[in-house]
Amino acid sequence: MPSLKIYNIFPFEPVKGEGVTLIDRNGKKYIDLVSGLGVNLLGYNDKYIKKILSHTPSIIHLSNLYYSSLREEVADMLGNLTDLDYVFFTNSGTEANEAGLKFAWKSKKGKFIALTDSFHGRTLGSYSLSHLFSHQDFPRIKADIKFIDTENYDDLKREGKDAAIIMFEPIQGAGGVKPLTREAAEIMSDLQKSGVILFADEVQSGLGRTGKFLACEHYNLKPDIVTLAKGLGGGLPLGAVIMKKNIAEKVSIGDHGSTMGGNMLSLRLAKEVLRRLNSGLIEYVQKLGEYIDNKYKDKFKIRGKGLFRGFDINNADTVQVKMINRGFLINILRKKTIRLLPPLIITKETIDSFFENIEDIIE
Ligand SMILES: *Cc1c(COP(=O)(O)O)cnc(C)c1O
Repeated sequence: MPSLKIYNIFPFEPVKGEGVTLIDRNGKKYIDLVSGLGVNLLGYNDKYIKKILSHTPSIIHLSNLYYSSLREEVADMLGNLTDLDYVFFTNSGTEANEAGLKFAWKSKKGKFIALTDSFHGRTLGSYSLSHLFSHQDFPRIKADIKFIDTENYDDLKREGKDAAIIMFEPIQGAGGVKPLTREAAEIMSDLQKSGVILFADEVQSGLGRTGKFLACEHYNLKPDIVTLAKGLGGGLPLGAVIMKKNIAEKVSIGDHGSTMGGNMLSLRLAKEVLRRLNSGLIEYVQKLGEYIDNKYKDKFKIRGKGLFRGFDINNADTVQVKMINRGFLINILRKKTIRLLPPLIITKETIDSFFENIEDIIE
């Protein structure tokens, strides 16, 4: 039985990884600037992650029925990094968003606002708030959902007035690596002051990827709810909904749950990921981000921050194939945008070699 054809997959098979490099069955090396869709923050074959995995714990899965000091330890680390108060662990980004939507709803019932080109996940709740899929014909949740073009500030102000929840990505990922504008952030911050719940989906932009722990920090936004996933579990499935105390206080026993969410092995790796982010990795990403801005931003009209980058080119699909032949894995969005989500441990030299090669191809 073949696996379902629902992704356009490349024909080569990576079988080994080292740092930012993947090696295929024939020994060909690829610089991986996609890192498992933004998951492999520490690259491949990280020695600390390997060390943790070599001591298999006797409990891999515990369930949320029992107290876990490991769970509380990771929760504390997330609290210190975000200034938020409570966390619930899930297995994935979309699950974190589903949980967050339910928690937000407990505090404030009413109209949801999401942004044009948004992507929040593939399950029906997250999907309902994903404008990127507005052409698709799946059922949406029965709720008042308004999609606002972020740069239509009058719409945002008007629709925001009687909204309950605004869900947004501070830098849109799948929608084309589009950062929120300062103006939109300011309007959202004002709406928050008048009682609207700000829900930041940082599944892609969080965890140091932009040179801050949360991309919202670039805008001085302090959302009421934040979701994380992708790299949180160091390659194992793990997501998190992090929220302010007033949101958490409205959630009752039984309102939500997860059998596998926050399994012990994923949490162990999360502790290591967070430790590394805390010991200089975020500042490292910030420096590399400045390097990219200084050297390449004008030339390629690059959007985004830190190591979360996108720029548009002609014939992106053809360029991608040429880059793969030269040993660079890149991601293409909507046939025109190159999205870069490299491991956070990438070096300046590797970044330079990527840009030299792409320049050579597109000229
Ligand atoms: C990847 C992503 C999701 C979905 O995460 P999954 O783990 O695939 O469910 C949700 N929101 C954003 C912004 C993402 O980039």
